Amino acid sequence: MTISEKIGQLRKEIPSNVKIVAVSKTRSVDEIMEAYFAGQRIFGENKAQEVASKQVMLPSDIEWHFIGHLQTNKVKQIIPFITLIQSIDSLKLLRMVNKEALAINRTIDCLLQFHIATEETKFGLDLQEAKTLLQAVNIENMNNIVISGVMGLATYTDNVNLISREFQFLKSCFLFLKSAFFSDNERFKEISMGMSGDYLTAIREGSTMIRVGTMVFGERNYK
Ligand SMILES: *Cc1c(COP(=O)(O)O)cnc(C)c1O
Repeated sequence: MTISEKIGQLRKEIPSNVKIVAVSKTRSVDEIMEAYFAGQRIFGENKAQEVASKQVMLPSDIEWHFIGHLQTNKVKQIIPFITLIQSIDSLKLLRMVNKEALAINRTIDCLLQFHIATEETKFGLDLQEAKTLLQAVNIENMNNIVISGVMGLATYTDNVNLISREFQFLKSCFLFLKSAFFSDNERFKEISMGMSGDYLTAIREGSTMIRVGTMVFGERNYK
């Protein structure tokens, strides 16, 4: 199947209100353009340098999402063009995003990344850390960021029950934060969960945004 056919099939398979982020890390400009011509407009990348060098070669109506661990010293590189940073995992990072966005008069949407997997290696906040972060956001005037939801990665396993429970946990974190901090704020609405191996489970558990790479572009050689 071509990239275009895979995107078409995926669209038919999932509800129309669930957004598809085509994860284009390691993919060439030509592969991204193939997806673009099939109507795909949201692309996800996990390396600042990689996305910065790709985006100058690609159409300006692409929405670039940052989905990887982001070091504070790399923030400045992506602020001019990034639409959504899905991987906010510290207050320090959020402050840097706000600072660099303010410097060029942009406002950047951000998701709080939660650690929901049993694996140690995955980045992300727990609920207490998220609360502390949002309390700080309320005190400090961060006018150049908008917290628009949560993101998480499930354990890499074929145990569907475990994956379901992890996604349920992420949804419960979303609902808690919604009621505690965003009850009158419609912009806090996204639950980014689900990758090529588990997007159907994620959608069943309430995902609003799936991040699929392999499913669209085929197997990656690395990363
Ligand atoms: C690579 C990556 C994906 C996509 O993974 P696939 O299994 O290729 O769909 C999704 N989310 C994050 C954070 C990633 O790094």
